[in-house]
Formats: sequence, structure tokens, C-alpha cells
Amino acid sequence: MIPRLTSPFAIDDTESTFFESLIEAGFTGDIDASTAARIVSATDNSIYQLAPRAVIFPKGAEDLCVLTQVLSEPRFREITIAPRGGGTGTNGQSLTSGVAVDCSRHMNRILEIDPVRRVARVQAGVVKDQLNRELEKHGLFFAPELSTSNRATIGGMISTDACGQGSCLYGKTSKHVLGLRVVLVDGTDVWTRPLENSALSEVCARSDRLGEIYRIVDRITREQQAEIKRVFPELNRYMTGYDLAHVRRADGSFDLNAILCGSEGTLGIIAEAELNLLPIPARSALFNIRYDNFNNALEDARELARLGVASVETVDEKVLGLAKGDIIWSEIARFFPDNVDTASNGINIVQVLGHNDADLKGQMAIIEKALGNVALRHMGYSIAMEKRDVEAIWLMRKRAVGLLGNVEGSVRPVAFVEDTAVPPENLAAYIREFRSLLDNEELSYGMFGHVDAGVLHVRPALDLTRTDHQHKVRRISDAVVALTKKYGGVLWGEHGKGVRSEYVPEYFGPLYPALQAIKAAFDPENRLNPGKIATPGYAKLLKIDDVPLRGNFDRSIGDDIRAAFDNAAYCNGNGACFDFDATSPMCPSYKATRDRRFSPKGRASLMREWLRLLSEKKVDPRNQAERQNQISSLLNLPIRAWNTINPANRSDFSHEVRAAMDTCLACKACAGQCPVKVSVPVFRSKFLELYHTRYLRPIKDPIVAMIETLLPLIAKARPLYNTFVGSGAGRTILRAVGLTALPAMPPLSLEKQTQAMGVMIASVERIADLSVEARATSVIFVPDAFTANFDPEVIVSALRLAKKLGLTPYLAASHHNGKALHVHGYLRAFRRRASRTSNYFDKLTELGVPLVGLDPSMALTFRSEYAASPETQTKARVLLPQEWLRDHLHSIKIDNPFIPERLILLPHCTERTNATGGLADWRQVFRAAGADLEIADVGCCGMAGTFGHEVRNRSISEKLYQMSWKDHIDQAEGRLVMATGYSCRSQVKEIDRKSVPHPISVLNAMMGSDGT
Ligand SMILES: Cc1cc2nc3c(=O)[nH]c(=O)nc-3n(C[C@H](O)[C@H](O)[C@H](O)COP(=O)(O)OP(=O)(O)OC[C@H]3O[C@@H](n4cnc5c(N)ncnc54)[C@H](O)[C@@H]3O)c2cc1C
Ligand code: SF4
Ligand code: SF4
Repeated sequence: MIPRLTSPFAIDDTESTFFESLIEAGFTGDIDASTAARIVSATDNSIYQLAPRAVIFPKGAEDLCVLTQVLSEPRFREITIAPRGGGTGTNGQSLTSGVAVDCSRHMNRILEIDPVRRVARVQAGVVKDQLNRELEKHGLFFAPELSTSNRATIGGMISTDACGQGSCLYGKTSKHVLGLRVVLVDGTDVWTRPLENSALSEVCARSDRLGEIYRIVDRITREQQAEIKRVFPELNRYMTGYDLAHVRRADGSFDLNAILCGSEGTLGIIAEAELNLLPIPARSALFNIRYDNFNNALEDARELARLGVASVETVDEKVLGLAKGDIIWSEIARFFPDNVDTASNGINIVQVLGHNDADLKGQMAIIEKALGNVALRHMGYSIAMEKRDVEAIWLMRKRAVGLLGNVEGSVRPVAFVEDTAVPPENLAAYIREFRSLLDNEELSYGMFGHVDAGVLHVRPALDLTRTDHQHKVRRISDAVVALTKKYGGVLWGEHGKGVRSEYVPEYFGPLYPALQAIKAAFDPENRLNPGKIATPGYAKLLKIDDVPLRGNFDRSIGDDIRAAFDNAAYCNGNGACFDFDATSPMCPSYKATRDRRFSPKGRASLMREWLRLLSEKKVDPRNQAERQNQISSLLNLPIRAWNTINPANRSDFSHEVRAAMDTCLACKACAGQCPVKVSVPVFRSKFLELYHTRYLRPIKDPIVAMIETLLPLIAKARPLYNTFVGSGAGRTILRAVGLTALPAMPPLSLEKQTQAMGVMIASVERIADLSVEARATSVIFVPDAFTANFDPEVIVSALRLAKKLGLTPYLAASHHNGKALHVHGYLRAFRRRASRTSNYFDKLTELGVPLVGLDPSMALTFRSEYAASPETQTKARVLLPQEWLRDHLHSIKIDNPFIPERLILLPHCTERTNATGGLADWRQVFRAAGADLEIADVGCCGMAGTFGHEVRNRSISEKLYQMSWKDHIDQAEGRLVMATGYSCRSQVKEIDRKSVPHPISVLNAMMGSDGT
């Protein structure tokens, strides 16, 4: 049995009084001082871990005013705060030991879009892609680009002065900020916009904090002009934050926003922003240029950047290799073919834009001419012009940083010198020295960058649980600072300073006291994100080896246990799982709740802390599970019952972990799409198994776990079952045990229908008796319990389709898939059942007959859950229907005029994220049938196996359905909408009372009437 775990945190009197005072003063947002909330906000994408005292989630500017006013009370003097957006900083920018002010949960409204003035006003927590999604309707966009655009917030972008690809054309975020609504530390709520001199004089005359701020900044910019010019390099990536070089604009106006942009929450909290918008370029093309080595790519990039292109991005062999294994690669592989004799070891991606076709062609001709120049070193190139292709290639580039994290073992790429910038003309020489620096430290690394802007992205691989590797962080950082200075560049060319603020005085030299004076004017008591960028004279800046490293916490967990828990401990906080987009499958529970505990990162962080707390108690969870498996769970029932009701256990940290796990739909989008392959469903089941060694299970758990055994029995009494689930009394009883929305069974069982068709069961003996020729024209369908009992028509269609393809179909014998057991953490029972099933399938596979599962989620269980433990690993590959049909395209003959005008497939999210080639296969299959298949971008339907059937999950389930499925179902007029997932079809039926067919049924209908 696992022990009770004590939270590492406590709430002191000042904190609880502070929270009470906030509520009394009218704070309307959420205040969360739970261990879980603090752990989840203790990391970003950096190497550091610093837990806040609490996380508060304001709802708007008014809440921020309340917060800062209460904070100003002398009794709360020791409390500091740090704003937080997407938490995607790479250098601890938003980490704090004070209170984290998370603007992403509620402050995410687009307040106004004025397409005429090309201006948008947004709250700080709006995500960049969320804004651009809305702006697209007006032909406009917010130009600064960054790799984390699907989760980084506008507040975070402004506060780090973010930019990325295309920065030479569009500049940084600050260039597009027209005005900021900022709440100062004393509660002042002000809009800062560029001021004419007369208006500046007026503000400077004020006696309040604002007057002082303007007076000081004005004085510094007037008196220290020469020093400012000397310190700020003439780079596209000039230094971010406190940007004294740009306070005076070209038109002579005075812009305080130059100081605020990039100030990393150290000067005020941004509540709203007024942003400048640009028209979306009418036409764009990407040149994808291949090289046999990275150096050649770099050398050419310099030439290409001179041609006035929109951007030049370079990727090295390592990142390219990782991209080839990524889900996006199948969509773009054709643009990056290897040469016959030489593989590509580096690429340049060059973007050209045009106002119209002729303009674009003109731009393209310039590049093509340059590429024809023998002096260039490339091996060939391709051009992408379709919007979808261009977006997919950029997506590959955006995912590159994350992909670097997808490695085995404890030595992993980490960010600390990942965004240096030097003048582009120095880049190649600089990179050569940088490489030898890392080579001398015997580190592996991947490189890519915005060559046009001289920015290099590199993440050396380290294991920061090792002290020798920790020392390398200091050595390499110091050496890189010296190197960037040698080449006229900066350490923080893109991602901001954060904990690296240690180097600020060194870069700013005699100008640093001016930065301190600005900080003192805004925040004299050093309450806002202290230790970053600049401090009022008396306080210290953070140092790169002063802030606790994540590795220090991980060390006690141990490598073996880290490795045994499915990458939970390796989540690097890049935030890819916070994708705002309802039509992307990642991560439904986060999307529905906007609670970061309920995201893959949240669950991984909690799991990591849980493993650490267990290790502090010298408990190896693997042994606990093993020991528990030796005894019957009935034996310790009394003790579990006592633990469950014993009040002393209420504060057990394991409950907080379980609460986070409970909302997971086990959809596996994380396992497929997280760059680090953090697989929540797998470690969740291990956690649940252990959790229930100490605590009782809810009553619905054993029912759900036995579902595969129960369904065939229930099916024998289907009229009774249907009456029960359809009646008020039946529903009340089911609700009492925690279940809801159970579907009715159709009148005819699968068994009866297949008997009528003469389809035989694929016993090993029967298949073995077939001749080799007969086996070559056979197929075995693997019916899962849900499709078989609730939607047998799909299996019947598949059997008929197989016959029409000239094959002999068989049905696999009754077996357990075990997914429901796995989901609920009945791992011992899962292993027992699954090993029997895999034994049976392995024998069939040895006989050479393909196995086909019709429900993607159930079929893919054989590839993932089965693969996760040695007893259940199956040699058999249960194919998805489209994978099987790929081998029979030539036999698809349409014998029915019925081809709907538009055929739309709503894929199951597990299929979309874990069998990524599968969607292209469906297109190919329907193309063979003479139809164009559209694959809809949908997230999770919300049902996800038994998740949506549980009362406690139903509201999340329905919310998810509304988010991306409902519109497709409502607009089905004139289109035939299909769904591959049994759960998805049953969710549509439950909520909208409509039937959507499986594509197999549609294909079968297209191939002629049944019986032919
Ligand atoms: C994989 C990866 C790729 C990246 N690629 C890029 C890139 O291409 N270009 C780039 O510029 N950056 C990049 N970054 C860094 C990061 O995404 C950016 O710095 C981003 O702008 C941070 O936004 P956020 O919402 O996550 O802010 P957070 O990380 O939450 O916060 C960043 C800083 O802003 C402050 N802040 C946040 N909200 C407010 C507010 N409302 N008021 C005042 N201060 C606030 C915080 O205190 C903190 O100091 C990358 C990061 C990762 C993990
Ligand atoms: S779970 Fe994966 S995607 Fe989410 S933050 Fe961690 S590593 Fe990134
Ligand atoms: S399985 Fe799905 S719901 Fe659960 S954490 Fe992963 S993405 Fe989120």
C-alpha cells in the first residue's frame, strides 16, 4: 500500500489574510493555493523550478487593480507577484516564489476588432493564434510570429517582445503595440500610448507615480543618448525590455511602451493591449532548399537573405531527422526528397510574398535565378505554394524546438543559451565557434534558426540531476556571453532574460543604473517579478545557479523510476499541450476546463512530484504495485475502507493527483502529439492502480472494468436492457452508480446477422486448415465489444465489403481487448486478459491472415497499451480498416450511382494523433472509389470510451462536443458526414439524435447493394 503523502507546502497567516482581503475587496477571479496549482505553475520551459505561494486568476483589469491595491497595504509588504501568460518562457521569466498572476484562464477576450483602422483591442490572456483566427475573417493578421503561437498569450508576447520567423520583415511585437492598459503596482490603471511633447510635459508635471515614471525615462533618454546608442546594438534583435533606444520614435513622439515591452512583468501588469494589424499577404511561396551539410546551408542563407525575401530559416541535420519522425512529416515529405546518393543534412526555407500572382512570380524569379547560380551550394529545391502546404511546412519548423526533446534517456536538450543573436554577417563564423565550444564539452545538440536575423536556436543535451552537468550550465553560459559579445551580438536575441538577468549589468555597463532607476520609479519596493532584468538599487538580480533547478528535484526520484513512468518526469514544459484551438485534438480536458492541472503538463508535473514524495519516503512504486499484485484486493478491503473515511487522509497529496487524473479522457492525443511523448493514459493507469492500493474505488469502476464481460451477457436480454436504460427508474439507478447516457442495443445481434451470412469464427485451427491460397484471400475482423453490441451494422458492412472485394471474411473469436481495464488502472487484470488475446492474435498472424479492427481507439490499443508491458506485447498488428483497404484499392469497384456531393470524415482523435498516416489512407481509399474525401479538423467529441458515460464527466463531455463537433453535425445538409469512432457516433446520437455512418458502411453502399 502506498503511504499518505504530505504536501511540501503550507499556507501561512499572511497568505490566508491576503487571499481573504482580496475577496473582501471585490476580487472576482479564482484564487488557488492548492499544492497541485502551485506545482503546475512551478515550471515553464526552462531548467528551473520555483513554486509560487499561490496562483490567482484575474478576470480583468478591475481584478488587477483590486490585487495591486490590496498588495500595497503595508501588512502584505513581503508578498511579491509575477504575471503569467502561457508559461512558455524558456528562462524562468514567469517563475516566482511569490504569487503567480495567471492572466490566461479568464482574461482571454478579444474586445474589439476595427478592420478599417486595422486595430484590435484584446485582453492580455488572448492567445496569438486565437487572435489571428478571428482576424482572418477580416483579411488581417497580427504579424509577430513565434513558435508557440498556439499557446503563448499577447501579454506574454508583449512582455518578452516576442518575434521569430519573418522578424526582418515585420519586426518584433513592440513594433505592433499601439497602446497598453497597464496596472501599476500601486493600483494605478493607465493606458500608455505615444505622446507628443506637449502631452509628455503634462504627464511629467504630475505628482503621482506616473509623473515620476515619465520624468525619469525622459531624463534618461535625453541625458544618456550617447551611452544608449553605444549599448543597444544595431541589430534586428536589439535588446528587449527597458528599450531606451526606441523611446523616442522616428516621428518624435515619446513612447513609454518601448520600456514596457519586453519588461517581463517587472514594471506593471498588462491588462489590455491595442494592436496594429496588417493585411494578410495575398500570395506566398516557400522555397525548400536542401544541402548535404549545415554549414553550406548557413553560407547560402546569408546570400539568400540579401534578396529581399520575407524570411530565411535554417534547420540542421539533427532537427531534420527528428522532423522526419514527426506526425506532420507525412504531409510535407514530398517537399524534402533525399537525393539518390546523398541525404539532406540541412535545409533553408525561404519565404517570398506577393500582393498578387504577378508580384509573387517576380519575387520567385529572383530566387530561382539565384538558386541557378553555381556559387550556391545546394543539392536541389522544391517550391510550396498551396496555403495548406505552406502552413504544414511552417508547422514542422515551429515544432522543431519541441522535437529536440523527443529523445530517450535522461540526457535531454535544455534551454539556457538557446536564442543568441549576432549580426547575420557574423553568424557562420559565430556558429563555428559555438559548435566547437559545445563539442569540447562533449555535448550533443541540434541547431536551427532565423538566419536572416542572425538568431541561432540551440539546446545542448544535459542531465541536470548530475552535478557535473549543472556546472556546465555556468561554464557554457559564461562562454556564450563572451562569444556573443565578441561577435557584436546579445545572449537574449528572442526569448527574453528571465533568470539570465544576471548578465544584464555586464551587457548594459554604465547604463545599468538607469535601468535600476526606471525599475525604482515603477516598482520601488521590488514587488513585481523581483530579480529579473533590473532591481531597485538595494536588491539583487537572480543568478543562473541560484534558482533551484528541476534536476535537483528529479535527482531523488532516480533514473529507473523516471524511466518507468512514461516520460512524466521528462515533460519540459514547452506548453504544446495548451493548444487553444478547439479543432486540434490536444488536449480536450484542458480545453474544456482551461485548468492547467487538467492538461498533460499538469498531470505530468503532479506525477513527477508524487514520485518525488514517494521517493522521499523510500517507496519504490513499482515494488508496491508488484506486492499488491500478489494479494487479492478483497483482503485489504477493510483497510482501504478505513483509509477512505479516515479524516487524517483528507490532506493526502495523492488525492490532488487523482483529481487531475480523473478528468483525463485517455484520448492519447498527448502520447501522439506531445513532442516529448508524455503519455498520460499510461502513467495514469499506473497511478490509479497504486492509488487504489490505499483507497476504495468508486462503485462504477468495477462495472466499467467488467464491461467487456458484461456486454455479451446483457445482449442476451436486450429487450430488458433497453427497457431499463430507457426508463426513468433505470436512468436514476444508473446515475446513482455514476453512469449516464447509456445507448440502447439494436434488435438484431451481430451473432445472428453473421450466422445468417455464413461468416465463420476465426479459430486458430480453422485458419490453420486453410490452404495458403485461401489464407491469402481471407481477412479476419476483430470486433470490439462496443461496436459488436451497440453498432453491429458496421461489422456487417465490413464483412459484406470484404466479400465484394473478393475476399473471405472471418470474425475473430470472442476475446477481451482490455482497454477499459487499462483506463481504470486494473493493470493486473488487463495484463491477464491482454496476454490471452495477444497469444490468440499472434497465432493468427503467424498464419498470415490480416486482422482488422473497426474502431480506431480499440484497434490502436494493441499498438500502445499492449506494447507497454512485456506480458502483453503482441507481434500481431491489428490494422485499421483504411490500412487494410490500402492493399485492395484496385478491387474497389463502384456499382452504385450514390456518391454524395461532399463526403466528410470526422476522425477519432486517437486515430488522428496516433496513426497519423491513417487519414491520408482514408483519402486514398475514397479516391479509389471515385470520391473526394474531406477530413474535418475536429478535436475530441467528448465521449472517449466510457468517459462521457460517467455522470461526473458528462458536462465536460457535452462541452467538448459543442466545441468542435456540433457544427459539423448541424450543417450536414447536402453532405455526408462519417465518423470512425464508435464513441463519437454514439455521442452524436446521444446529443443530436442523429446517426452518422462509419466510412466502411458508406464504402460498402457505394460498392453496390448488399447481396451482390
Ligand atoms: C518550444 C518553444 C518555442 C519558442 N519559440 C519562440 C519564438 O519563436 N519566438 C519567441 O519570441 N519566443 C519563443 N519562445 C518563448 C516564449 O514562447 C515567448 O517568450 C512567449 O512570448 C511567452 O508568452 P507566454 O504567454 O507563454 O508568457 P509567459 O511565459 O507566461 O511569460 C513571459 C513573461 O511575460 C510576463 N507576462 C506574461 N503576461 C503578462 C502580463 N499580462 N503583464 C505583464 N507581464 C506579463 C511574465 O511575467 C514573464 O516575465 C518559445 C518557447 C518555447 C517553449
Ligand atoms: S506534456 Fe508534453 S506538450 Fe505538454 S508541456 Fe509537457 S512536454 Fe510539452
Ligand atoms: S489523454 Fe487526452 S485528455 Fe488525457 S492528458 Fe492526454 S490529451 Fe489530455
